[in-house]
Amino acid sequence: MRFSTRAIHAGQKPDPVTGAIMTPVYLTSTYEQETPGVHKGFEYSRTGNPTRTALEQNLAALEGGRHGLCFASGLAATDAVLNLLEPGDHVVAGDDLYGGTHRIFTQVYQRFGLEFDFVDASDPQNLVDSVTEKTRMIWLETPTNPLLKITDIAEVSKICSGRSILLVVDNTFATPYLQQPLELGANIVLHSTTKYLGGHSDLVGGALITSDDELQERLAFIQNAVGAVPGPLDCFLTLRGTKTLAVRLDRHCENAGKISRWLHDDSRISRVYYPGLEQHPGHEIASRQMSAAGGMVSFVLADESEKNAREMVSRTGIFILAESLGGVESLIEHPVSMTHGAVPPDVRKAAGLSDALIRLSVGIEDVDDLIEDLDRAIG
Ligand SMILES: *Cc1c(COP(=O)(O)O)cnc(C)c1O
Repeated sequence: MRFSTRAIHAGQKPDPVTGAIMTPVYLTSTYEQETPGVHKGFEYSRTGNPTRTALEQNLAALEGGRHGLCFASGLAATDAVLNLLEPGDHVVAGDDLYGGTHRIFTQVYQRFGLEFDFVDASDPQNLVDSVTEKTRMIWLETPTNPLLKITDIAEVSKICSGRSILLVVDNTFATPYLQQPLELGANIVLHSTTKYLGGHSDLVGGALITSDDELQERLAFIQNAVGAVPGPLDCFLTLRGTKTLAVRLDRHCENAGKISRWLHDDSRISRVYYPGLEQHPGHEIASRQMSAAGGMVSFVLADESEKNAREMVSRTGIFILAESLGGVESLIEHPVSMTHGAVPPDVRKAAGLSDALIRLSVGIEDVDDLIEDLDRAIG
């Protein structure tokens, strides 16, 4: 089955009891056992729930992986991955990460003896230079958030193989529709399903996908032992979201492409970050490893003033001033004071994150309305 078909059918079949074609929301914490230890595959809903199983199988199928595990949030999924490590282990990560990822690394796990280095991963040589004999994991986002930097995943997987380093790719921005990291050599794919997979800004969730049976066993153990699992209703909503992932993403990409070109040609804008633009330094790699450039666009106003950026994002009518991304509605935000407020100023500066940067999550509205809205707000 091809992607759009898998999106609608993988992990789901009509309910054998009633014929209902939608997976029921199994609001139950426990399951009857015939005799002690003899059951239909479910014992307790932290360990497993049929609505969650359907979603886990669906997401695994979309990423081309053998196994999926769902979590209460993207960061709960991140937490589970970090739980694979031991005190003293070293992680090399990209320097332009989701702010909360940077926060859990440095403010939670560093206290337990994990060590982190952050480098510009758009040049894989920087990763090679940071690897030590203690390095057990390389952590990538591509495209990155919010600068939309691109890393060649296949190139980085070559660095990892043979060194017993796990390659983790946060595929939240690209989605499996545009990019398939497991096929490019990643060991674990991570998602905040809150974003494009859910797609309607109505839930918080996370997921891990792997094809490695041993990793799956360890991660499933952590999922159950730590217990940060999503409820069945959130799983149902995410399943409903993935059914339309392909059609939504087509429109997100088309709209973001048009907006990025419009911004690029406008003299009121000094810089536009969008991997679909030929001028973007990662354009060539993005064209190779992604089927389209995604729905996220960042830019800086010509005067590069933080004050004017803050005012501009407060003036839009259709673009809603809010954190998060990946929903059908367009959002605008100022990363330094919102999503990336947890990243220390010196780290932001080193990564090239301007205090004047504006980030768009381009929705699937009529693109002419979106451009008119930005035009008015830029003023
Ligand atoms: C939102 C996000 C996360 C964290 O996910 P939550 O669901 O908010 O916990 C991780 N990575 C990226 C790229 C994100 O955008």
